[in-house]
Amino acid sequence: MSKSFFIDTSVCTACRGCQVACKQWHDLPAEKTTNRGSYQNPPDVSFDTYKLVRMHEKVIDGKLRWLFFPEQCRHCIEAPCLETAGDDSAIFRDESTGAIIYTANTRLLLADEIIESCPYNIPRKGPNGVLAKCDMCLDRVKNGLQPACVKACPTGAMNFGERDDMLQLAESRLAEVRGKYPQARLLDADTVSVVYLTLFDPLLYHEFSIAFNTSFGVTRQAALRRMFRPLMNAAAQVLS
Ligand code: SF4
Ligand code: SF4
Ligand code: SF4
Repeated sequence: MSKSFFIDTSVCTACRGCQVACKQWHDLPAEKTTNRGSYQNPPDVSFDTYKLVRMHEKVIDGKLRWLFFPEQCRHCIEAPCLETAGDDSAIFRDESTGAIIYTANTRLLLADEIIESCPYNIPRKGPNGVLAKCDMCLDRVKNGLQPACVKACPTGAMNFGERDDMLQLAESRLAEVRGKYPQARLLDADTVSVVYLTLFDPLLYHEFSIAFNTSFGVTRQAALRRMFRPLMNAAAQVLS
């Protein structure tokens, strides 16, 4: 059975323990930032920041609300980035967990096309053209440990386990909060392995919090390239 996260934004305090733990485990450097008038720091996910706690202040029904959104790759069940790449040596799905994994061979892909194919705007390009994002802490998970971000979370906002268990937990939390927050919902639960619970309109948390059909899927050029790849590979073998 595959693994999933359940991220309960209703109990996230934006302590950023998950963000720091992710950097520590992956030995990623800090980023230089400036004061942009927000506690969110750095401003976006990057080649060196796979996990980012997004923060927004919004007035909802006359009340000031802090909206926190611990952002990361959703490990889509049918991942558009993987479909677009069409190259298992660069992007593959780990069958035992469902993790979508990027390798150093992503430097051989058309980076912009992969980034555009992601409905959540997640992958980022490094200086050498390699793409990076959350890897589900696959090395930890394969050794029976929780992902670093889940282990570090002190409030229970980050949860990880068997997919059925996470979906059950998500549904039961949704049922608990719905009475008080009628707009509460689970985001794209059927299509991703990272399921968020939000209390308000998800677009108030982040513009890419949910996938839009218009920006979802493989581009026409990528589809054509995939269609003709076997012919191109066969031709390359004949010529070599
Ligand atoms: Fe790929 Fe984006 Fe889905 Fe992550 S969220 S698996 S990068 S398409
Ligand atoms: Fe970072 Fe691992 Fe959490 Fe992904 S699962 S956000 S790589 S700590
Ligand atoms: Fe929110 Fe937990 Fe991350 Fe802290 S560690 S920011 S509570 S998800």
